[in-house]
Amino acid sequence: AKEQGRNTYKIYDKAIHKDLTKKLELVKRLRHAVNKQQLTVYYQPKVELSSRRITGFEALVRWVDEDGSIIPPDQFIPLAEDTGLIIPISEYVMRESFLQLKQWHELGFTELSIAINISGKQLHLPDFADDVIEKVNEAKVPPSKVELELTEQVFIENIQSHTRFMHSVREYGMSLAIDDFGVGYSSLSYLKNFPVTSLKIDRSFVKDLPDNEDDATITQTIISLARNLNIQLVAEGIETEEQVEFLLYRECATGQGFLFSKPVPAQQVTQLLQQYNGL
Ligand code: C2E
Ligand code: CA
Ligand code: CA
Ligand code: CA
Repeated sequence: AKEQGRNTYKIYDKAIHKDLTKKLELVKRLRHAVNKQQLTVYYQPKVELSSRRITGFEALVRWVDEDGSIIPPDQFIPLAEDTGLIIPISEYVMRESFLQLKQWHELGFTELSIAINISGKQLHLPDFADDVIEKVNEAKVPPSKVELELTEQVFIENIQSHTRFMHSVREYGMSLAIDDFGVGYSSLSYLKNFPVTSLKIDRSFVKDLPDNEDDATITQTIISLARNLNIQLVAEGIETEEQVEFLLYRECATGQGFLFSKPVPAQQVTQLLQQYNGL
């Protein structure tokens, strides 16, 4: 038994080693990709459910590998957060997506907004709010058309620096959304305590609407709560007309999902705008 135990350790050791080697290799490739600007931004529309007009886009980063294949963010964002590479990645996403927003405005779609994802790690940087404000300034886009999406984790942590960040960007006129709402250990008090302007109902609750009764109840509850607190709502992951109908009936104003469009490269955005908003 003792012998067997030792072997188990050995195998375990090897597995860790292999894991680590793979991880280091990936870090190296990611750093290279960031330096060589092999990142790109895709855009997914947010749609006003009643009119089916696009009100804005969420910027979602992609890694374009040497062979042209696309690596999704779930496969490198966590690593980017651990290694600090999230900083240059996020700067790129902001610069690029603000530039795009500027162009869409110049085409006449002046009502459009852009939402970018901010990871909790970035809020630990002392001057991060200033960095964001500087990027918005440089791009000359109206701050009121910029929305920052923060995951629930950030609100749960409830650190003073985070709160300060939120107030700074709000004072500057940007909007603040809670992403993936409902999946964390939600303490609803933070809706009251933080200067939040909107919340995004997580896809896991939308997925099985309208048939799943629990999800229907949860969604209904989130919608009522948001309405009472005067907070805007976005439903994530809408894939069917039945889901739209359910959400519209309960007065969730905005939605996002494959039913309207998958995230697309910038070149395809004008086509989407023509299709949804006319010209
Ligand atoms: P998220 O912020 O919750 O973004 C929504 C994700 O759901 C996107 O995946 C989007 O493609 C996907 N999605 C949208 N509608 C549907 C639908 O109808 N059905 C299904 N099955 N999926 C849908 P994506 O682009 O792979 O992004 C995954 C996550 O990576 C994001 O989740 C976000 O947390 C993170 N991420 C993406 N870009 C950035 C970034 O620039 N910075 C940071 N910090 N995180 C990012
Ligand atoms: Ca998001
Ligand atoms: Ca989300
Ligand atoms: Ca998510």
